[in-house]
Amino acid sequence: MERVYNFSAGPSMLPLEVLEQAQKDLICYGESGMSVMEMSHRSYDFEEILHSAEESLRKVMDIPQNYKVLFLQGGASTQFAAVPLNLLSEHKCADYIVSGQFSKKAATEAKKYGDIAIAASSAGATPTFSTIPETTKADFRPDADYVHICFNNTIYGTKFHYIPDTGNIPLVADISSCIISEPIDVSKFGMLYAGAQKNVAPAGLTIVIIREDLVGNARPDTPAMLDYKNMVENDSMYNTPPCWCIYMAKLVFDWILSIGGLEEMKRRNERKASILYDYLDGQDYYTAPVDKKCRSMMNVVFVTGDADLDKKFATEAAKAGLKNLKGHRSVGGMRASIYNAMPEEGVVKLVEFMKKFAMENPKL
Ligand code: PMP
Repeated sequence: MERVYNFSAGPSMLPLEVLEQAQKDLICYGESGMSVMEMSHRSYDFEEILHSAEESLRKVMDIPQNYKVLFLQGGASTQFAAVPLNLLSEHKCADYIVSGQFSKKAATEAKKYGDIAIAASSAGATPTFSTIPETTKADFRPDADYVHICFNNTIYGTKFHYIPDTGNIPLVADISSCIISEPIDVSKFGMLYAGAQKNVAPAGLTIVIIREDLVGNARPDTPAMLDYKNMVENDSMYNTPPCWCIYMAKLVFDWILSIGGLEEMKRRNERKASILYDYLDGQDYYTAPVDKKCRSMMNVVFVTGDADLDKKFATEAAKAGLKNLKGHRSVGGMRASIYNAMPEEGVVKLVEFMKKFAMENPKL
């Protein structure tokens, strides 16, 4: 069977070159005589993979020396608990901006551990979460231990169009659905975290990038697996790490470096997103419900306005080799996730299909 264009929100497409390299290494990696999947995480070969994955990510994201990089497990959702356990260190209070389901979940989890305030929310927008709240420094409590945001909202197709000014309060961002899609100034954040299954690797790996001074302040009852200090001291190998995912992540980071780094990645991603948004803006069959200035470059949401037509769209698109376009169950409509590995021709094919579908299914 031929490969399709997979618009899934994650796990999602990986670069073909990376899959081909992984296929070559699958049975026997280098001179090791075994697959990475069979290797001890304490072996020389694996330690080399782990260290070069970190080195490549540091290059890709231009991560300053005073930040630690961790390769963890448990998905971004585990960080919803790990962040308050580690960072509610001084005043036991933190502020959250709620711009979608994941930031809401993060705030709900954090409430178990301290005094959490919702500094701003776009839940009340029409449609809900179709924009990003504007904030100023005055919206945050001066004694907050940190401020938390979700930089790109996978479900609603919105993205922060600015980095909130939190003054001296560390800013923590969930970048699960936009990591390594474009350059980001790491020094503006106290901590960044991401589940890897969208732009980085198969599911099973979580990346944490944290400023050194924020490590080492976890609550005494923090589980060892969630204590950043423990993970830093053990080089992300307090227990068995997700070896295969780390190997795949390394291949993806090296692929990005080989194409010209995040500037080139951004150029490609902007081109893909504008092909889709330009089409959406030039017709009136489909509606893109998101506030224009907050549009995500990774997740493009659109609707026909008729639930039956939306359903037919997703079904017929799948038959045409354009898979997983059904919107999130809480939003409906369609969502095209066009992460790094989605080729431009996938987006061109999608727009061709959208035109054809609109012609063949006039609204009554
Ligand atoms: N944050 C964002 C922005 C996400 O898109 C997701 C998953 N789609 C999560 C958090 C939860 O991630 P995980 O499934 O890795 O726990």
